[in-house]
Amino acid sequence: MALGRDELGQRSETVRRANLSAIVRELHLRGPLSRSELVARTGLTRSAIRALIGELVAGELVVEEPAIRLGTPGRPSPLVRLIGERIVVLALEIAVDSLAVAIVGAGGVVHEHERVDRPRGHFSLDDVVADLAVLAKAVRTRRPAGEQPLRVAVAVAGIVNRADGIVRFAPNLGWVDTPLGLRLAEVLELPVPVDVANESDLGALAELRRGAARGADDVLYVHGEVGVGGGIIIDGRPLGGIGGYGGEIGHMPVNPDGRPCRCGSVGCWETEVGEGALLARAGWPLDGGRTAVDAVLAEARAGRPRAVAAIAETGRWLGIGLAGLVNVLNPRRVVLGGLFSRIHPGVAGAVEAGLDRFALVAPRQLVSVVPSLLGVDAPLLGAAELAFEPLLADPAAWLGPRGALVELESA
Ligand SMILES: [Zn+2]
Repeated sequence: MALGRDELGQRSETVRRANLSAIVRELHLRGPLSRSELVARTGLTRSAIRALIGELVAGELVVEEPAIRLGTPGRPSPLVRLIGERIVVLALEIAVDSLAVAIVGAGGVVHEHERVDRPRGHFSLDDVVADLAVLAKAVRTRRPAGEQPLRVAVAVAGIVNRADGIVRFAPNLGWVDTPLGLRLAEVLELPVPVDVANESDLGALAELRRGAARGADDVLYVHGEVGVGGGIIIDGRPLGGIGGYGGEIGHMPVNPDGRPCRCGSVGCWETEVGEGALLARAGWPLDGGRTAVDAVLAEARAGRPRAVAAIAETGRWLGIGLAGLVNVLNPRRVVLGGLFSRIHPGVAGAVEAGLDRFALVAPRQLVSVVPSLLGVDAPLLGAAELAFEPLLADPAAWLGPRGALVELESA
């Protein structure tokens, strides 16, 4: 069947956009690459790469720079890199203990970063967005005048409807059906959209792209603080469920005879592995926060039996829950973030023993459990990755309607 002129044009335009996306995504995730490396990684021909790089250079998304000679003979090929000093996003985070802001360039370079501790408790939406706006303004004044972030994304410790930016439920902030995206867009006074997403989902994304889960397409990220959340990536894609509320692994029922949970249920996993459970076992006040956790860790290092036992018991429950999740999800890697990353040395043995005892042999053999590489900033860096996604998915939208194929059409 012969294709009409319009149909052919549309197809070649779709292919062009997909190819530009493949190139920009490689450069964002891997850093500067030579044209030959881009040929090898994208499967495109050398001439296609040359034309597409030309478009990206003209559109001021990338530059080609001489490579540094490493003592090898011959002229080194130039490297193509995204102009990360100019193409930036604004990433925000609303955690239970802190607020954070970062300006991140294409390629993942963090240009500016600021995190301020805040006391725990319930805060009005107005107060939180006002504080974030002040922080964002302070950080942006350190950047070149007139710099406009491509997009803004915020990580929040709650269940989020991504479509409308409403936080459906954030027990530690005291928020129910809170229009965070809308209010942030108002106070930030930037002419770009604000994406809102759950902190664990974003932690998973950051660890997948730039942290402890690099190279693994099937990942479970487990974030522990007061609450316990999960980010699940299967076959390279986030698993969110119909409403995007999936991954709430902290609220898996594991102990029907256990303690009441903040969600209204009883014996959820976070009542056994969350910060409150650890502190209670170690004899510290439940609301002691990070300072109290530090004290427990110090006591455990000094060999105090109660602290050692508290960490071991938390590790036992961690292993039980992870065994169930490994059976269900069959991940390549489990990344322990937040509190769990900090107590990892103390719980690693119990977690491995729990997996040996309770997980099925086949998925257990394939999984490794590792602490987060990005630490406390994983959700913030994940917010930056989310904000870059529209650019990575369709860089042509930033280039305007130019390009060789379009010119051929009009010729
Ligand atoms: Zn619960």
